[in-house]
Amino acid sequence: MSSLVTEAIVLHAFDYLETSRILRLMTREAGVQSVIARGARSSRKRFGTSIDLFAQGTVEIHIRPNRELQSMASFETTRARPQFALDVGRFTAGSMIAELALRASSDESAQGMFDSVERALDNLVMADADHTVSAGLAGAWHMIAALGFTPSLDSCANCHADLDPAAEAAFSHPAGGALCARCARLASGTRSLPASARNALREWMSGNAAMRLTSPESRAHQRLLREFFLEHLGDHRELKAYGVWEQGAWTAA
Ligand SMILES: [Zn+2]
Repeated sequence: MSSLVTEAIVLHAFDYLETSRILRLMTREAGVQSVIARGARSSRKRFGTSIDLFAQGTVEIHIRPNRELQSMASFETTRARPQFALDVGRFTAGSMIAELALRASSDESAQGMFDSVERALDNLVMADADHTVSAGLAGAWHMIAALGFTPSLDSCANCHADLDPAAEAAFSHPAGGALCARCARLASGTRSLPASARNALREWMSGNAAMRLTSPESRAHQRLLREFFLEHLGDHRELKAYGVWEQGAWTAA
């Protein structure tokens, strides 16, 4: 058994038996780890007052090789992020980020993924209540870029011809990006992407979260992100938190 001390963010948490909690953590050094915090609901001394969803801190994990569930020795919270509990749009966007991060990660540490999740959650905490959808979109696309799945936006994903940055372009999920007019004619199932939408994707993937979207633009972006994620990073399981986030933006509009 070895001991791992690293920074961690709680991406999933539920009570287990009478006194314990099971958590899925995004760690800086060891990717996603599932841990059991024995006595977490009675021992505030070892685990702090809040090892709740979206909390960040320093965790100590006792690692046994070839185990699915590791044992958490302590968690010292540095940021509890209580703002997520106060606004349903912020909470559903944060849950979506956690779901995508868990789906796309393993126990191998993905370079940049911890930083990207941290940035996405911090941007959601700071976003105005009516801009949590675009902050969520920004965070998700930044994670996709951190994972190395950046779609081609400035040249054709098929033949690499330069694309006019001011023009509408067809977007193909299987091809992994925008297509020139010639390749678009031969492709099926493409989405039409206005120049402003391509620009938003570019900004989000480079880490800029500030983007004002109309409700139809938000919905189109949510659909595009869902389709892209399922095409390249999905595992055929339904994205439940994503569905709640997407549905929430529909009903609020
Ligand atoms: Zn082409």
